Amino acid sequence: MTRKFFVGGNWKLNGTLAANKALVDTLNSAAIPTDKVEVVVAPPAIYLESVRKQLAPAMGVAAQNCYHEASGAFTGELSPAMLKDIGVAWTLEGHSERREYFGESSEFVAKKTAFAVQHGIKVIACIGEKLAEREAGTTFDVCAEQLAPLAKHLTKDQWAHVVIAYEPVWAIGTGKVATPDQAQDVHAFIRKWLAEHVSAEVAQATRIIYGGSVNAKNCADLATRQDIDGFLVGGASLKPEFVNICQARL
Ligand code: PEP
Repeated sequence: MTRKFFVGGNWKLNGTLAANKALVDTLNSAAIPTDKVEVVVAPPAIYLESVRKQLAPAMGVAAQNCYHEASGAFTGELSPAMLKDIGVAWTLEGHSERREYFGESSEFVAKKTAFAVQHGIKVIACIGEKLAEREAGTTFDVCAEQLAPLAKHLTKDQWAHVVIAYEPVWAIGTGKVATPDQAQDVHAFIRKWLAEHVSAEVAQATRIIYGGSVNAKNCADLATRQDIDGFLVGGASLKPEFVNICQARL
């Protein structure tokens, strides 16, 4: 089974209409074979519609967060139906910044993930350990704890609409990228965990992508590892080098 290489760009709280257009123009005119690599960018919510309209249809757009209710008194939230309404097919869930600054628990992240998938939105679900957890030797335990609610809330079939982003928190925005061995070890653990707790088929088919200070220089080495199926990119997704990252496994 071949898993299509996947590269996501998390623009976080960055962008203007003009800057977004420049980025989108770069992507639209780049040599990115979208039959070989799935590219999805996640602008801030206010720019989702304009980016969706400008970006080539073969590339995807993601929200950075999406709630587990269809509508109602939930100020500041977005629903899967709203994303579908403007042609947005993806959302991120559980990014470490949302866990850290907005108190999102693994249970809440899993509830939102399942609701999004049930309502036709695909999810990049983020997990990963903090530095102290890695130093304490609990990386696998932390990842398992973050995966368990996803396995509880998602049916086996729904996993086809989920990409797991392994993003060690100590590597996000720090310039300290995980080594290919460090990333591969955790990706292999995640795949084994899926085989044991969901199914062998889901484990084989699910894309597990790495995030944390990926750039044009370090992406090629990471992309050679058998369980690294792509990247979630923050800082470098705002620069032309994002194109090189999309081309990492060509
Ligand atoms: C991220 O925000 O998901 C991320 C990986 O950021 P960076 O690439 O800047 O480390």
